Amino acid sequence: MNLDIKVEKAFNGECIWLRFGDKKKANVLIDSGPARFTIGFKRIIQTIQKLNEEVNLLILTHIDNDHILGFKNYIFKNDCKLIKKIWLNGDGISIYKYNQLLSPRNVGRLVEEIRKKEITLVTPVCEGYEEKINGASLKVIAPKKEAIINLAKLIDKFNLNTGIQYAKSLKKLYLEDKYEEENTDTNKASICFVLEYMNKKIAFLGDAVATDVIEGLDKYYNNQKMDIVKIAHHGSKKNTNCDLIKKLGANEFIISKQSIVHKETIARIANCCKKSKIYCNYDWWSSKNYFNRTDKSTYIDSGRLSICEKNLIQISVEEKI
Ligand SMILES: [Zn+2]
Repeated sequence: MNLDIKVEKAFNGECIWLRFGDKKKANVLIDSGPARFTIGFKRIIQTIQKLNEEVNLLILTHIDNDHILGFKNYIFKNDCKLIKKIWLNGDGISIYKYNQLLSPRNVGRLVEEIRKKEITLVTPVCEGYEEKINGASLKVIAPKKEAIINLAKLIDKFNLNTGIQYAKSLKKLYLEDKYEEENTDTNKASICFVLEYMNKKIAFLGDAVATDVIEGLDKYYNNQKMDIVKIAHHGSKKNTNCDLIKKLGANEFIISKQSIVHKETIARIANCCKKSKIYCNYDWWSSKNYFNRTDKSTYIDSGRLSICEKNLIQISVEEKI
């Protein structure tokens, strides 16, 4: 049996399609990409419709443009009958209506529209919440409730990390490394969950930060290894550190991004795992001399780090013994 993880080419945003089940397949969509991806999101829904299946759950991890606008544009023009349930943190907080700057503006009318379309809305979604879908369990490990409240108080200062360094080698970056965590309220409120299906555990970290994920793992998955991890925040160096990578215990990772990923993050993965494999939904490294000669000989040719462009990751699962 398979669990298919399709990491859509959602530009610099994110949209991941999970499909699993024995005879009857379940579909879970994680985020909907940026506005540019609206057509892509629509295409996914049409494909699911052709398969005679439904979207059992749409998880909108948080309210930033690159995760939510694909769906927001879609819902106002389509009946959405196929979408049965949505997880979204962004309801009941009056401030969304007044502080209409950047991300918070995305929420107000969206929640109304979801209700109008009679799609089941689960909100707030925070740590400890669990749902079972078609034999899989989805357990939320972050955010905490306080993070959701902070989100409500915010005037978003979302700014993407700039100043990418890729001239330095993976080794040098790792040796000089300093992790500075981001402190963006929307991302800190990002839904982060572990999908357990048969014998596999797959962690989807949304855009959460390392400290929060580590806390959640300690609380809910102490000393348990993940099989695959969707790295947080498009591989930003401000969300993933070595402690987190070690704690996750996985060797396989997914990064969703169209442009170059912070090399610090890749350096941490490459150095904190004995052997690692990174699946990317775009090839952002080969045309850019991203990996220098030392990187190639030490990590890539030696097989310590393998990185590939792959949109569909098929994981074979077996019954838990
Ligand atoms: Zn994002």
